[in-house]
Amino acid sequence: MIGVAILGSTGTIGENTLDVIARHPQRFRAVALGARRDVTKMLAQCERFRPDYAALAEPDAAATLERELRARGLPTRVLAGGQGLEHIATLKEAPAVMAGIVGAAGLPSTLAAARAGQRLMIANKESLVMAGPLLLGLARASGATLLPIDSEHNAIFQCLPPGLEAGRAPPGVRRILLTASGGPFLDWSAERIAQATPEQACKHPKWVMGRKISVDSATLMNKGLEVIEARILFGLALEQVEVVVHRQSLVHSLVEYVDGSMLAQLGSPDMRTPIAHALGWPERIDSGVESLDLARAGTLQFEPPDMARFPCLALAREAARAGGTAPAVLNAANEVAVAAFLEGRLNFSGIAAVIEAVVRDCPAGTAEDLDSVLAADADARRRALREVGGAGVTV
Ligand code: MG
Repeated sequence: MIGVAILGSTGTIGENTLDVIARHPQRFRAVALGARRDVTKMLAQCERFRPDYAALAEPDAAATLERELRARGLPTRVLAGGQGLEHIATLKEAPAVMAGIVGAAGLPSTLAAARAGQRLMIANKESLVMAGPLLLGLARASGATLLPIDSEHNAIFQCLPPGLEAGRAPPGVRRILLTASGGPFLDWSAERIAQATPEQACKHPKWVMGRKISVDSATLMNKGLEVIEARILFGLALEQVEVVVHRQSLVHSLVEYVDGSMLAQLGSPDMRTPIAHALGWPERIDSGVESLDLARAGTLQFEPPDMARFPCLALAREAARAGGTAPAVLNAANEVAVAAFLEGRLNFSGIAAVIEAVVRDCPAGTAEDLDSVLAADADARRRALREVGGAGVTV
């Protein structure tokens, strides 16, 4: 029996992980669940999965959860605050950790799991973007295993030879191609995109995801962050990481080898496939995902991304090239801008404008320790908030 800790259990990744775990009651047990503040969902998950621990980042929410659990006679131990999340990431009885918290908020618990030598399933791409070399160094020192959950990176992992160490370039690889669905605005004019609403941005054509990553998908910043993530995970040069738009979202990414061979991973767009792959690895286990009917899928299309209509992709590549704290600055500015957009305080086109202004003004530093990464993150957030205030809303 393998004990699993799920950080971000009430989000999309967390719910899909619990779905896969429920299919294998003899093999996995959800030992610990962690989330930010969704008491209702957490309570329902505790009633169903009976974990030993439940951690909520917001203390008030944790206190409510504690009361509700006791009222129901459930023995689950409640932990509060960021320390609670870090604690459940390091449990001996839960050596498999799903890092499914979205954004920079997931960084401390992801690093804690890497430091503790866990089998770390990384869905929290921001931790790799912000502090990739640090995370890899911790994992190397502790012997932690890193398994990518992001569908593109999981696809690449599946197309690479076994036995690779995270961060070391795989032999014989010419380049990798990350596929992008293109998001909901793929065929929209620049003028129409500029006026897009949060509701339109969150209506993804292929994947069901949280609101933040849905907006990232609409701006293509999600793909930009994934370029940085891929570089770090697979130890490749920036020039070896390309993006290709693939509307059908059936090919999840490709690896090209020096002999001209291209290997791709295909499947229905359902996060339970990469989650089951990582949970069972190196074995294969049932995920509940339906078979992909290729004849019904018909044509597969591939096209280059349009950097002019989607400037966030170019901004991310520039940050990747600059290195150091530049990716953390990019990520922080993006989180602030996306939150402002979702709250109606910024136009859609303002997202890229805010990020560009912050990245241009922020001095690039080295990202050798967590303190310098967090300082760069905080500084970029302050600058981004100022930019948002200055940009205002003209919708
Ligand atoms: Mg992805």
